[in-house]
Amino acid sequence: RFDVSAPWLNRVLERKPRVWVRAVDDVSFEVPQGGCLSLVGESGCGKSTVARLVTGLYRPSEGKIAFAPGAGGKPLSVQMIFQDPYASLNPRWRVFDIIAEPLRELRLRETEVEIAARVAELLRTVGLAASDGRKFPHEFSGGQRQRISIARALASEPDFLVCDEPTSALDVSVQAQILNLMRRLQDEMGLTYLFISHDMSVVRHMSDQIAVMYLGRIVEQAPTEVLFSGPKHPYTQLLLETIPNVTDPHRDRVPQSGEVPSPLTPPSGCTFHPRCPLADARCSAERPEMLAMPNGGRVACHRVAEMTGTMARRPG
Ligand code: SF4
Ligand code: MG
Repeated sequence: RFDVSAPWLNRVLERKPRVWVRAVDDVSFEVPQGGCLSLVGESGCGKSTVARLVTGLYRPSEGKIAFAPGAGGKPLSVQMIFQDPYASLNPRWRVFDIIAEPLRELRLRETEVEIAARVAELLRTVGLAASDGRKFPHEFSGGQRQRISIARALASEPDFLVCDEPTSALDVSVQAQILNLMRRLQDEMGLTYLFISHDMSVVRHMSDQIAVMYLGRIVEQAPTEVLFSGPKHPYTQLLLETIPNVTDPHRDRVPQSGEVPSPLTPPSGCTFHPRCPLADARCSAERPEMLAMPNGGRVACHRVAEMTGTMARRPG
């Protein structure tokens, strides 16, 4: 299993002057080996910060990131796949060299012949041709470029892939192809995913577990179908109401209520209270604790007990 647990204070640079923002705080989750946990939430909720902390791109200014040792007791190898594949691929390098770099760097293959064979194999694994290695990134479409970044990530033989909005820059039809590729690779290679997205229909397709983040904290976590069939936290309900309802297209769509407050000045108590239709006096005064639910999930809301079963809809 894989654990992340820490009270984190992470510095975010915003123009001038430098400011300190508690971008993520006391976030802890577990991803079973071979599984997929998705972090969801609106932009600015801290999900990308968590991704960068897990991969070591950011260091926590407080607390720590702990990985439970992998099944074989060896250290976890973590790779990241980014939203914009073009920005993460060196435009002056041929695709062959982009994918070969980790093989050389980590000495995973000895000779040039072995490296060439492995690059060709990785290209075919992600649905590209071995001859594509001769081309440059700009010669490919967005979806193909994302395939190239997946091949590069796989080159270092990772156990754990952190994917930050890997398909949100792509057309919907291409999105589905990349998601299907990622699921197939997960099955074939036993990969573990931490998947970051704001798109609830994408995470439903990908995840075993979903953790919903709001202003740097996890407010609800549950197995995917449990979360979709009975969201408990009012914020999760709001997120689910913004996706089109395929089974009942005539149901009214509820607009997003209110803006996300600035993480610089988080609201008191439950940070969701200014937007919550169920907020009462206690909500603005006390931060709710995470409570375990009988359905296997956990929820941070003062009113969850009294409303369980009746909270699937907003009042009015
Ligand atoms: Fe809403 Fe209060 Fe629950 Fe926060 S604690 S989600 S404000 S009911
Ligand atoms: Mg982001």
